[in-house]
Amino acid sequence: MRVRFVYRITGIVQGVGFRPFLYRLATERHLAGFVLNDDRGVLLEVEGRMEDLEGLGEAIRRDAPPLSRIESIRTTRLPAAGHEGFEIRESPRAKRRRVPVSPDAATCSGCLRDILDPDDRRHRYPFTNCTHCGPRLTIVRDVPYDRRLTTMAGFPMCDACRAEYEDPSDRRFHAQPTACPVCGPRAWIEDGNGIRMPAVDPIGETRRLLASGHIVAIKGLGGFHLACDARNEMAVAALRERKGREEKPFALMAADLAEVERHVHVSEREREMLASPASPIVLLERKGEGDDLAGGVAPRQPTLGFMLPYTPLHHLLFRPGPLDPPGPAALVMTSGNRSEEPICFREEDARERLQAIADYFLMHDRPIHLRCDDSIARVFRGAPQLLRRARGYAPAAVPLFPPLPRSVLAVGAMLKNTFALGREEEAILSSHIGDLENLETLRSLEEGVDHFRRLFDVDPDTVAHDLHPDYLSTRYAHEFPARRRIGVQHHVAHVAAVLGEHRVSSPAVGIAFDGTGFGEDGTSWGGEFFLFRDGSFERAGSLTPLPLPGGDAAILQPWRTAQALLRRLDAEADPHEALGPLAALVPSGSIDLVARMLERGVHCPWSSGAGRYFDAIGALLLRRTRNSFEGQVPMELEALAWRAADRGAKVTSGAMGTRDAARWNGAGAGQSGTSDDPPFMIVEREENGRAHPGEPAWPSRFRVDLGGGLRAILAMERRGEDEAVLAFLFHDLLARASAEAAARLAEETGTKTVALGGGVFQNRLLLGLLLDRLAARGLAALLPLRVPANDGGISYGQLVAAAWELRAHG
Ligand code: ZN
Ligand code: ZN
Ligand code: FE
Repeated sequence: MRVRFVYRITGIVQGVGFRPFLYRLATERHLAGFVLNDDRGVLLEVEGRMEDLEGLGEAIRRDAPPLSRIESIRTTRLPAAGHEGFEIRESPRAKRRRVPVSPDAATCSGCLRDILDPDDRRHRYPFTNCTHCGPRLTIVRDVPYDRRLTTMAGFPMCDACRAEYEDPSDRRFHAQPTACPVCGPRAWIEDGNGIRMPAVDPIGETRRLLASGHIVAIKGLGGFHLACDARNEMAVAALRERKGREEKPFALMAADLAEVERHVHVSEREREMLASPASPIVLLERKGEGDDLAGGVAPRQPTLGFMLPYTPLHHLLFRPGPLDPPGPAALVMTSGNRSEEPICFREEDARERLQAIADYFLMHDRPIHLRCDDSIARVFRGAPQLLRRARGYAPAAVPLFPPLPRSVLAVGAMLKNTFALGREEEAILSSHIGDLENLETLRSLEEGVDHFRRLFDVDPDTVAHDLHPDYLSTRYAHEFPARRRIGVQHHVAHVAAVLGEHRVSSPAVGIAFDGTGFGEDGTSWGGEFFLFRDGSFERAGSLTPLPLPGGDAAILQPWRTAQALLRRLDAEADPHEALGPLAALVPSGSIDLVARMLERGVHCPWSSGAGRYFDAIGALLLRRTRNSFEGQVPMELEALAWRAADRGAKVTSGAMGTRDAARWNGAGAGQSGTSDDPPFMIVEREENGRAHPGEPAWPSRFRVDLGGGLRAILAMERRGEDEAVLAFLFHDLLARASAEAAARLAEETGTKTVALGGGVFQNRLLLGLLLDRLAARGLAALLPLRVPANDGGISYGQLVAAAWELRAHG
């Protein structure tokens, strides 16, 4: 007896080779019927003998193409309809667009073989791709995902490509961006004046230019990179100088894994991540000895960010032909922008904005529709964590919990801005947009929102935003035509993001540590302890706030915060003396000025930001007066502390997962440590809960006061104790105090869950120490994984908080 089944498959199932895959499955099993893409996914209708249909559903799940992600398969059984043969049918015109556009994917092994095979018609063709790899989000103008609605519309297929495109057994069947040297995009080189240079092999010419120390702007998948030889000290220095980027580390692209391993340690998980279709920049621990990279690549950083070639063009840059001279094996590949601006992705724009930086331009004529930066990831204790979610990940939906009763747009924060569209149980996150500090980036946000609303057919009537009145994202939210606006406190969003990602609805403790964020009382927060209960967030505790002399100036010049901290620790001390060696690096008039500002409380906004403590202690221990990029001094303080942590680990158990310095970690697991550990206090509001005039109001329960411990650490510094040990003790102090505070709140609410969010938790040492302390008390810590811990995760957190709010108050 013949039977008929209809399979409705949803998820990322279009543009990833799903129909040829089903075609093969059906014909192998002698089934008749058809398959088509529609606006909800893939529809498969098959008819045949029962035994041939057996196990088809499982086979679809098991053998699905590599880039697909099946969300659901719904099966309906129907009486036979007399289908004959199996065909791939045309897509009906979309009415409602629910089909996810997939992320861009790194060159697959099949395509790499093609471009390296001298007998293949795509030999050395830089725009080779197939259904398993290639551009997606960056070239899509509209849905459904069809060549005519991508930036490949201007490249009519040649006969050979057309034949592959129409052959269901071919890897390029319905590969929308497919192309070849006859019909597809081309690359060329220009000099700084926009004059095309005659070059038969523009990529080979680029390799030669890079090898001879030039800076080349390279148009890639989601935008331009600025590239130079990573071993060439002069080229790297010139790039820094011209880009206006003082010390922030540069990302690197290496020819292959062997080259990566020459410079950094790579674990199995990290290897997988490097070679994955998403192909992010992976932060890896530097080997140090025998490193021949230019010193200017990542000054004083213990990690390097490496990625592997992810387009055929990149692969060819590293693979000279048999007669070509070799090129650099590792390139600096930093985003093609001037500092603080979004990356360039159009030729005209690059010519104009990068002219003063790049000596040459490697261009191509496949238009990029949507800008997309490289993603940044790392592995923390075996778990992959995204620090910047962009190319290769966006716009894959992140599950949303709790589900939204209606569609919401969340516009994110200011730094590392992203936006998110939420609908029911999914959040569609934009890729990294950048720091919303200029109109250029704001426009990028506005255009991105419009584009995503169209692509995903989401029409939000509610908008969630940060409480900071001056963020450009907040202003945009107020102009956005919405029925309802929900302001979400910055650190609530940090914690909510983690809770949402881990689907937590029961009570939990949340710790948000970051630089600054606008608090409900109008002061700046950033070292916060929350109680999450019944869908609402209570600010139960915070770090003791510090005044920041000069506000933003203190963030740029952390010695100011150090001086403020020293005054809190000892109001009587002479500021010049207290600052010690740091005082010599600061104009003495400035110290007196800051002293007066602190005394009178003039232009000294308060902040409880954990990052500000890192600034202050970092300035004192490292003797550094400036942050040349966000978080620089804190990052260097962590690097310094690792030196002691690593020594501690070597002395004791060697291969401990955390590499904790056991000397300080051993005694009294779960207690606040040994008696000679630098002490902290948790000051209950009832004990001392009256804010001094001009000071910020207290949280509902307590303040965590690190004063005693910091006094002890600084006294040791004056006695000449090793700075690395002191940097470690500071991390440990903060971890012990935080674990104690979290444990109190957990006990009170009977929860075992502690969610950790905010940019400070990018600090692996602090995170590891805190995790161990919490574990020792039987508490389970939840970490940001798919959504960045830093402000890139704020938009998702705003969605989660808005979902709780809408459930409670509609
Ligand atoms: Zn491919
Ligand atoms: Zn062709
Ligand atoms: Fe933040």
